[in-house]
Amino acid sequence: MNNKSSEHCVFCKILKGKIEASLVYEDEQVIAFMDIEPVNEGHVLIIPRVHAPHLNDLDDETLGHMAKIAGKIAKAIRKSDIRSEGMNLFLADDEVAGQEVWHAHLHVFPRFKDDGFGLKHDPEKNFQHPPRQRLNALAEILKKYL
Ligand code: AMP
Repeated sequence: MNNKSSEHCVFCKILKGKIEASLVYEDEQVIAFMDIEPVNEGHVLIIPRVHAPHLNDLDDETLGHMAKIAGKIAKAIRKSDIRSEGMNLFLADDEVAGQEVWHAHLHVFPRFKDDGFGLKHDPEKNFQHPPRQRLNALAEILKKYL
């Protein structure tokens, strides 16, 4: 049993009703509940019912459904009186990307000016304009794996 197994998984415990959660939505494929440490009030997590530690472990149908429900929840937040001037949909896959819980999940959270949240970047390294030739080569690599 490793630390990415279902037995160790806090989200599987929520699915089994072993620990409490504030449920927003559920169906046969996914559940959505309030994040216990929200970026901002209204932060929701959408998780598949199947224990899938990584994006690669999720089938396209389930991932697509998670995205659909994330969209519905984002729209609900916007309609509600929960503060939101904008919205982030976010998925962290693996440690370097910020993943901490090994059960794939989509974050939906409202944003507003000066809310203190942001993804760090180094202007020397990130968002430089590579030559078109390199962008074309990368597009060709990805096409092979779709
Ligand atoms: P990530 O860093 O993308 O893996 O995000 C994991 C998220 O799960 C964090 O935002 C945590 O606050 C959240 N989280 C962890 N445990 C719980 C829990 N028991 N109930 C609700 N959210 C949780």
